[in-house]
Amino acid sequence: MAILKRAVVYVLSAAALTQSAAFVTPQGSAPASHVHLMASTDDAAVDMQTREARILAPLSAVLTASLSLGYAGPANAAPVFDSNMRKNFPGAMSNSAIALRVASTLKERGYTPSNTLFGNSLCSDEINDTSESLVNDFQNKLQVGGVFNLGGLGGLPFVGVSGMGAFLSHCPDSGKVFIVFGPHVGVSKDGVVGKVERIGRKGPSTSCGAGIGAYKAIIGDSSGEDKSFLGTKDFQEDYIIAKLRDRLDPVKDQEVSNESITFVTNKMYDLVWEMLRSQVNSFTNKPGFWDGVSEVTLLGGIVVNRGHGADGIPGGEDFYQPLMLKSLTKEGESDIYGEVFGDFPALAAPHRAAKYV
Ligand SMILES: [Zn+2]
Repeated sequence: MAILKRAVVYVLSAAALTQSAAFVTPQGSAPASHVHLMASTDDAAVDMQTREARILAPLSAVLTASLSLGYAGPANAAPVFDSNMRKNFPGAMSNSAIALRVASTLKERGYTPSNTLFGNSLCSDEINDTSESLVNDFQNKLQVGGVFNLGGLGGLPFVGVSGMGAFLSHCPDSGKVFIVFGPHVGVSKDGVVGKVERIGRKGPSTSCGAGIGAYKAIIGDSSGEDKSFLGTKDFQEDYIIAKLRDRLDPVKDQEVSNESITFVTNKMYDLVWEMLRSQVNSFTNKPGFWDGVSEVTLLGGIVVNRGHGADGIPGGEDFYQPLMLKSLTKEGESDIYGEVFGDFPALAAPHRAAKYV
């Protein structure tokens, strides 16, 4: 019976992944869930202890407490980082390989150290800003001076249109803009998706805490009540919970597993893309924008964190699953994914089809 149940879960997981891969484009997506923008009082905003517990506590403990479900991750498995990373994020490559390919294409398109403005919309987590991180790889390969951080929790560009406007206004005269965006997710050395070994910490911890914390909040709430309450203490996480809620139906009743965390991460990608697209759009559609900027290139994908080899744990640089590479000019958008990643699995095709306008 247990075997049958697991088989059913596996089939459901596969179905959920199929839907994830199909990626509902922004044009075709259902209307965003209704978000109540309410003035808050301090005590009404967030139960901080609960919120903190969701992000920090082991997934298994939360699930045991809330749903009586076990975590499907392997307990004593041999290191299987590579196989599980490739199974769940096909086409992911090491940061340095991604940066080499993309920077080479950008240089061919006329991106130079003096005419390029570089920004990223990745999660605030320090794990995404190490000497081996994607952003630092790009910074070195493009030889740009600094990086504008657009990303808040989960990689969503919570700087808003004010921050995006400031960023774009820093573009060198008639220069070029390059933005890397996307959510992140850990894969531990034992192959558990959503976990990563951090330096100086015993045992793996959650990555991304914001995305998985929102997932835990949603599956742990059986009331179905809309708690999309944007208080001032935790508005970024509140926003993610509100926006993610309606997108997680396919995994709400499943056991938490590598597949369900992968599904959630793909939905986080959608959230990042939709917010970023909307913000960039509001500037590139303005008359005169293209008088000062000649091109904007957007690289979207999923950062896969791994341990960095501290404390005797095998590790190395992070990986990145590229899902979109587009260049925008006043003439419109061009999909340059194929010329850079044409040899990759076709997984990214639905994301590439997601139009910018
Ligand atoms: Zn994060």
